Amino acid sequence: MFAVFGNPIAHSRSPQIHQAFAAQERRKLIYERRLVLIDDFERAAREFFATGGVGANVTVPFKYEAFRLADVLTERAKAAKAVNTLFWRDGYLLGDNTDGIGLVHAIKELLSFSLHNRHILLLGAGGAACGVIQPLLQQQPASLTIANRTVEKARVLAREHAVNWCELIQIEPHYDVIINATSGSLHGQEVPVAPIVLARAQLVYDMMYARELTPFLLQAQAAGCTKLADGLSMLVAQAAASYEIWHGFRPDIRSVTRQMREEMEQS
Ligand code: NDP
Repeated sequence: MFAVFGNPIAHSRSPQIHQAFAAQERRKLIYERRLVLIDDFERAAREFFATGGVGANVTVPFKYEAFRLADVLTERAKAAKAVNTLFWRDGYLLGDNTDGIGLVHAIKELLSFSLHNRHILLLGAGGAACGVIQPLLQQQPASLTIANRTVEKARVLAREHAVNWCELIQIEPHYDVIINATSGSLHGQEVPVAPIVLARAQLVYDMMYARELTPFLLQAQAAGCTKLADGLSMLVAQAAASYEIWHGFRPDIRSVTRQMREEMEQS
């Protein structure tokens, strides 16, 4: 039995994505959405694993609690200080984080865009940003700079990972890749990045996804940037990494991303 835990959770596409992966290897899969009260994650997760649960995805706002709950953490989870994948294995709970490798896979493989030797700007300093820093650095970019509305958070994160930071309103227009890991788009808010910064980028990636272009991607498009992508590919790729951890099968990500896009456009 598998599940995704979060609050809210009704919008989650994880069950459809995991069922699509399971169909690729003709596996029968039980994968449910579990809405958890804000202060009830530990109890709900322990009960799940005590009653036959094998694996769980964890989403907002429980990734930090999942990090604390796991008995053993992968290096990726330690670097991210957050867990999005739990696996009950040999009597202990393994915690992993697949967000970063999902993002890198989406950019490198699905968009055929190399991050090597690029100047990368990461907007945001919350859980999502934190989870992708080390996997981005493993691609050996020319530089990685974090900018965040609350400057102190960018400064702390940059110090921890030995990367650069700057203020949102003082970004130099020289980045090849801009990754939006803020929740601005989620709230329909613009992120105050100057048009010239967006115009110079060869790729603007918004971790949020939607049927239409997200507010941030609209901002980038209006500034003149032509290579735009939203976070649906990252969502599917991070789910594929969880699936492989649990079932030992590497699903085809491209076809499921296409399928999810079609379903999203029809809904
Ligand atoms: P958090 O709440 O942990 O962090 C939110 C971040 O956004 C903070 O840095 C916050 O800045 C910043 N922010 C919020 N509103 C604005 C705004 N209007 N202008 C500028 N900055 C703003 O969220 P997460 O890190 O967990 O998630 C961030 C985004 O990433 C969400 O949209 C989420 O849906 C997406 N995501 C997508 C995934 C995928 O697979 N596609 C996976 C994980 C996340 P401050 O510090 O100043 O508050």
